[in-house]
Amino acid sequence: MNLIWFRNDLRVQANPALAAAHENGLATTAFVTLTPKTWSEHCESPARMGLWHDRLLEVKRELEDLNVPLKILMVESFDDCPAAIGELAEQLGATNLLFNYEYPLNEVNRDQAVCDALMSSVHCVGFHGEVIIPPGEVKTQTGTDFKVYTPFSRAWRQRLVKFDYPIRPIKSPFPANSITSDEVPSDLGWQSLSYNRELWPVTSDAIREQVYQFIREREADYKEKRDFPAVNGTSKLSPYLTIGAVSPLQLLHVQRSEYSHDGWLNSSWLNELIWREFYRHLMVAFPGLSRLEPFRPETEARIQWLDRESAWQAWCQGETGFPIVDAAMKQLLATGWMHNRLRMVVASFLTKLVGIDWRRGEEFFMSKLIDADFASNNGGWQWSASVGADAAPYFRIFNPIAQSEKFDAHGDFLVKWLPELEMVPVKERHKPGAGQFYGRPAPIIDYTKERKRALDAYKEG
Ligand SMILES: Cc1cc2nc3c(=O)[nH]c(=O)nc-3n(C[C@H](O)[C@H](O)[C@H](O)COP(=O)(O)OP(=O)(O)OC[C@H]3O[C@@H](n4cnc5c(N)ncnc54)[C@H](O)[C@@H]3O)c2cc1C
Repeated sequence: MNLIWFRNDLRVQANPALAAAHENGLATTAFVTLTPKTWSEHCESPARMGLWHDRLLEVKRELEDLNVPLKILMVESFDDCPAAIGELAEQLGATNLLFNYEYPLNEVNRDQAVCDALMSSVHCVGFHGEVIIPPGEVKTQTGTDFKVYTPFSRAWRQRLVKFDYPIRPIKSPFPANSITSDEVPSDLGWQSLSYNRELWPVTSDAIREQVYQFIREREADYKEKRDFPAVNGTSKLSPYLTIGAVSPLQLLHVQRSEYSHDGWLNSSWLNELIWREFYRHLMVAFPGLSRLEPFRPETEARIQWLDRESAWQAWCQGETGFPIVDAAMKQLLATGWMHNRLRMVVASFLTKLVGIDWRRGEEFFMSKLIDADFASNNGGWQWSASVGADAAPYFRIFNPIAQSEKFDAHGDFLVKWLPELEMVPVKERHKPGAGQFYGRPAPIIDYTKERKRALDAYKEG
C-alpha cells in the first residue's frame, strides 16, 4: 500500500507524488493532516483555509473516482504528525509514503521528523511539485546560490531552453482499495473559513478554464496592463498556485503550447513565475528567512522600527487618509486578494513612511490573503522594506500620490473601494485627505516629513 500525503498540492493531475504512486502499481490511500495549532501559529488566513477546504472536497471526489480514499488525520500541530502518520501506516500496512516537498523551515523539519520516525518500516520519498526547477538546481558558474534575481532568471531560462519537464498524466484508476474515506470536517477543526466563492471557484474544470482564458486571451497584453489595478490585467491565479490546485509546470505547458514560436520563454508573465521560483530558491538556500531574519542582517541593527499603534491600526483598516493605500487595503479585506503594484505601495507606506517593522505587515498579509504564501510574501515584504535579497534600494520610497495618479489616473479603482470619492473631482481623488467632506479620514502622516525621516533612518549606520 502507498500512502500519499496531500498538503498544498491539491490536484490530481500533474502531481508528481501521486503520479509516482500510480506508476508503482500498488493500492494507494491519500491523507491530509489537520493541524489547527500550527495554522494559528502560522497566521493562516480564513480565506486561504476556506479555499483549501473546498478544493480538498473536490480532490477527494476526484481521488475516489480513481479508487484512492482520503483519510483525515486530526492532530494539533506539526509535532504530532510523526506519531499520527506512523499509526496510520501501521494500520494500513503501508510500505511507501509519498509527498511533494514544501520549502519553509517548519515544513521541512516536520517532513524530516516524519521520515525519521517511519524509517524502519516505510520508504518515504519526496518530489518537487511546487516549482518547475527544484531549489538548489540553478547555481552560479562557481556553484554558489544566486542572490540577485536577474542573473538567476537568466540561468533559470537557460535550463529551460531544452524543456525537458514532462507531466506524467494519470489515465487509469489505481488498484481497488477497501479502505473508506473520512468526512472532511466543515471547519477543518479550526475556525471560521470564509472567502468569496464566486471569485475563486474550485472545480478542476473552472480552474482550467481560467488558465486557458488568461493565456489565450489576456497574456499578450500582460506587460502593458499588469500595473493598472482597475484593469483585469493579471491572471489572478495566485490563490490556486498557493494551494497547489494548479502547478507552475502546468501553466508553463499551456503557455508553451499556445505560442507559435519561442516567445514563451521571454514572456513578461513567465518572469513573474520565475520570481516565485526565486523566492523558493532563497528560502531553501537561506533558512534564516524562515525565521523572519532579514536577508541583509546589517539592516537589523541599522533601522529603528517605530511603535506607532494608531497608525498601524489605520493601515490595517484602510483608514490612513491616503486614498490609494486605503483602497488597496479595502480590496484586501473584502476579497483576500490585492493587486501586485498595490502590495508594493502599501508595504512601502507601512515600512518606510510609517516606519513599522516589515514583519508586522508580513504577518498581517499572511492572516488576510487568499493567496498567502510564505516564500513570496516574505520576499515581497523584504523587497519593499529594502532589507531583502535584490531588494528595492533604500531610497526608493513609493510616493502614494504619484503612484495613484500614474496607475489609476481616473481614480476608478479608488472609487470602487472608497465610494465616497465619487463626489470628489478626479484630480483631487489621489490627494491625502481626499473626501474628508464625505467622511474619509484625514491623513495620518505628513508625506514629505516622513519621507525625509525614513531616508535619514536608512542612511544612518
Ligand atoms: C508585499 C508583497 C507581498 C506579497 N505576498 C504574496 C503572497 O503571499 N502570495 C503570493 O502568491 N504572492 C505574493 N506577492 C507577489 C504578487 O503580488 C502576487 O503573486 C500577485 O499579485 C498575484 O496576482 P496574479 O496571480 O494575478 O499574478 P500574475 O501577475 O498573473 O503572476 C502570475 C503568478 O506569478 C507569481 N508572482 C507574480 N508576481 C510575483 C512576485 N512579485 N513574487 C513572487 N511571485 C509572483 C504568482 O504566483 C502569480 O500568481 C507579494 C508581493 C508583495 C510586494
